[in-house]
Amino acid sequence: MSTFDQRTDKTLQELAEGGQYKHLQMLGSPMDAVVRMRMDDGSFRDTLCFCSNNYLGLANHPEVVEAGIKGLRDYGAGTASVRFICGTFTPHEQLEATISKYMGTEASYTFVSCWNATEALFPTFCEAGDVIVSDELNHACIIDAMRLTPVIKKGVKKKVYRHSDMDSLREKLVECEQDPEINGQAWVVTDGVFSMEGDIAKLQMIRALCDEFDAKLVVDDSHGHGVMGETGRGTHEFCGLVNDDGSAQVDYFTGTLGKALGGGAGGFIAGPKRGSELVIQRGRPTLFSNALPVTVACSANKAIEILMAEPERVQKLRDNTAYAREQITAAGFEVIDSPTAICPIIVGDTAKAISMSKRLMELGVFVIGFGYPVVPEGTARLRIQMSAAHEREHIDELVGALKKL
Ligand SMILES: *Cc1c(COP(=O)(O)O)cnc(C)c1O
Repeated sequence: MSTFDQRTDKTLQELAEGGQYKHLQMLGSPMDAVVRMRMDDGSFRDTLCFCSNNYLGLANHPEVVEAGIKGLRDYGAGTASVRFICGTFTPHEQLEATISKYMGTEASYTFVSCWNATEALFPTFCEAGDVIVSDELNHACIIDAMRLTPVIKKGVKKKVYRHSDMDSLREKLVECEQDPEINGQAWVVTDGVFSMEGDIAKLQMIRALCDEFDAKLVVDDSHGHGVMGETGRGTHEFCGLVNDDGSAQVDYFTGTLGKALGGGAGGFIAGPKRGSELVIQRGRPTLFSNALPVTVACSANKAIEILMAEPERVQKLRDNTAYAREQITAAGFEVIDSPTAICPIIVGDTAKAISMSKRLMELGVFVIGFGYPVVPEGTARLRIQMSAAHEREHIDELVGALKKL
């Protein structure tokens, strides 16, 4: 056997023995409060879903589905080209206008994923002498983009501050100021909502520090868009960083269209127009890779339009989350407190989290157990995620199942 084959078989075996092997769950129906899941014997069974990012229940909304179908009919499968050659349809332009309106930014530019958007943003925007200052618990795509940036642009530095620790962030910014090699732009980047804890960035204070040190603020609000703030604009709205005219006090956003905003796929950078122009001119993932499929662009556009027209969906998500937290706590579980729709129950051991999740599945409730390496060793958890698609009886059923564990 080759070196790769040998070491891979060993890794897979170790994962299986440690109870950490992840099995993909098969769905035989659209994403919704109830999904048809394939059981071990091959049969399908209706299961309550509490682990999707379908926060607003838009993934299977009839108008979202119809918009995608119309997009496919009107434009076919795609452009068979990168965007700067002949790869941009008018629905891409429409989607980017809708995102800008929704985000309160001058412009936006879309990608096949938020992962891609993030890996476009930093290597394209940064130059030698710049520094990226990042929260230690930021999403993996930010971590990888930071690793990638100095490879593409030599002389870009990076620093990591302790999670949501403003003294630590200040310390790093002071270090940047004192380092003669850092003479360009400073970029501070944070998740809006941290996906594993469900806690939120202290955006007011981060904004103030960015202003003090002349740094640009980048917020990846993939779990906050459609969820946080009165009208679901995101964590910046929740934190009061929206001006009277609706514009956002954040320099650049990155976000996904694969969660609350339609649930298909896709990501974006939203901010001043010069940023979008620069990624069109210079971004490697935009110059050398195709656009979001037009079907997805059309359905995401419709999803954001529905969100803007029906803020009551955001309110229902909030009500569901408050009710679920209250009931889960009353059932004797400790839920990490947060204003988001993510309700993590810490159980400690990875194998335990996986076996609890398996037992819940037998009871007809789908809740994922996360362990190492997604979260630090010893902090494995059940992560319950609420949706506006859930009704009270769904939540009661979840709590009933938790009580049986
Ligand atoms: C989910 C998520 C992503 C990935 O989004 P994709 O569009 O699926 O690539 C990126 N950043 C954060 C913070 C996320 O939560």
